[in-house]
Amino acid sequence: MIPRSILCLVFAFLCIFPAFPQNQKNRRNGPNEEDDDIPQRIGAEQMMRAHAAAYPGIISRVEYRNGDWAVLLREKWFYHADGRLLPEERLPEAESYARQSFYSYFPGLPPWREPRGEQAERLKNILTERRTNPPKRDPSFYDTLWQARSKDEAAANLVHIKFLGKIFAVHRDLAARLQKIDSLIEEAAKADSGIRRWIDGIGSIGAWNWRNVAATASRSYHSYGAALDILPKDLQGKATYWQWTADKDPEWYKVPYSGRWNPPLSVVKIFERYGFCWGGKWALFDTMHFEYRPEILLLYGMEVENP
Ligand SMILES: [Zn+2]
Repeated sequence: MIPRSILCLVFAFLCIFPAFPQNQKNRRNGPNEEDDDIPQRIGAEQMMRAHAAAYPGIISRVEYRNGDWAVLLREKWFYHADGRLLPEERLPEAESYARQSFYSYFPGLPPWREPRGEQAERLKNILTERRTNPPKRDPSFYDTLWQARSKDEAAANLVHIKFLGKIFAVHRDLAARLQKIDSLIEEAAKADSGIRRWIDGIGSIGAWNWRNVAATASRSYHSYGAALDILPKDLQGKATYWQWTADKDPEWYKVPYSGRWNPPLSVVKIFERYGFCWGGKWALFDTMHFEYRPEILLLYGMEVENP
């Protein structure tokens, strides 16, 4: 799925859009949000070109057509549609869909600052809001990308891998990539006892699961076998997923990094180097979660390598 030419394409992409890292000027002093407002500053053309660079051989063309930027994904045109990524037949009802999740994403963790004022108020109400009015994204772009329009189709794409000592099923196109990540983490653990302890503390790793994102009507990346949840044997009172914390505490967003179960940042970096984003960087934190989103990393000026 991901030809080896990706590095060249990354460089070509960065040459075409050398201004990308300037997005960091818009960076907030706080965790990034799995939210709509920041990514809306990214232009449609940038976004569609990032997708083409991230999935070479699968996205074959980027074009301005019928008044919008579009990509040709597996012989079907998908339009930017204000961040919704819609096929032509869905354009008339575009407004009925939520925007796709194009969160902002930067290297490292920004310094911790507790959300206050309007931001705190919004985060406090977000779970109730989502449960009342779950965001519904059109899944056809990602269904086509991962060739999984149904649970059966998704299951047919799976292969089992052994990763950090656990065996589980992932999308076959990500197996080599994850094996590379596994070997680099194991290698790093030889010199870093913190990484070794983190690996030894892992209780389970869940990957494929045909389901929606909790409190949304939108398909989860787990449905494609393109996301992993790495959970410890014992959270030791630490937070890992914002909704689990929000169920018990309406001020869940005040939990600082030190109150969360976080993997070592050097482990996060290894994942990022091979195209995976970490949910611990979202304001709606999900510290157990990694998902394959090379387009996001490219949009924020990071490089993605092939195994
Ligand atoms: Zn997850």
